Amino acid sequence: MEKRDLIYEGKAKKVYATDDPANLIVCYKDDATAFDGMKKGIICGKGAVNNRMSNYLMQKLSEKGIPTHFFEELNDRETLVRKVAIIPLEIIVRNISAGHFSSRYGVEEGIVFDTPVVEFSYKNDELHDPLLNDDHAVALKLASRKEIELIRSYALRINECLKEILSEAGITLVDFKLEFGKTDDGSLILADEISPDTCRFWDSMTGEKLDKDRFRRDLGNVEDAYLEMQRRLLGE
Ligand code: ADP
Ligand code: UDP
Repeated sequence: MEKRDLIYEGKAKKVYATDDPANLIVCYKDDATAFDGMKKGIICGKGAVNNRMSNYLMQKLSEKGIPTHFFEELNDRETLVRKVAIIPLEIIVRNISAGHFSSRYGVEEGIVFDTPVVEFSYKNDELHDPLLNDDHAVALKLASRKEIELIRSYALRINECLKEILSEAGITLVDFKLEFGKTDDGSLILADEISPDTCRFWDSMTGEKLDKDRFRRDLGNVEDAYLEMQRRLLGE
């Protein structure tokens, strides 16, 4: 396997072609952004933590029957993944109120929901990722009704798996964002990443935030929070 051209540089990762058209290499950066790209910074070591944690969690999910893009961890920051056509939806699953849920609906953070909330945003930077429902997504031809139903059921299963893995590590899964894509043969798989950049993790005992909210809200000890999550999950 050979690394070829840089085909995309996003806010948190670089994506390279390989000699196999079915695969890509993603390279995780230390760059951090928040508030629609308005706040920028560097979280030293973040790229390596996110790479390893995302790969670990995706492997656990695939053991539970969730298809993912994970193929092979190449080094600290780089992973070989299956190339997909990303469905331009951000799927957010919430177990506890926080972030935009709290600000949008005017409620405090920390309300535990009786059942998880699944929410979709249109992944479109120019439009600032607007919230949408199933009908909007179908009308905009972002995905078919069937695909949306499959995405929803995967998202809920992923939530159950992640909650279990994290609770064993003393972590409460507050909310998280997923992206799915389609392979050349048309199958739907989990793509992108699962990391402290894309999830809210609270220490189950103390309530301490161990995710990107430390950066967003200038809470300090940002690098330590990422390393603590790595230690809890990967034991190193
Ligand atoms: P952003 O584009 O939001 O700035 P990143 O910096 O994380 O995000 O860039 C990674 C890009 O790669 C994202 O646009 C994501 O949708 C895309 N991506 C993730 N996994 C895959 C995959 N398996 N195949 C193709 N594209 C992917
Ligand atoms: N999230 C993400 N990328 C986005 C928007 C949200 O990874 O572009 C994650 C975020 O880290 C959190 C969850 O999705 O775990 C819910 O985010 P929310 O809608 O509350 O928005 P935020 O306050 O994070 O901007």
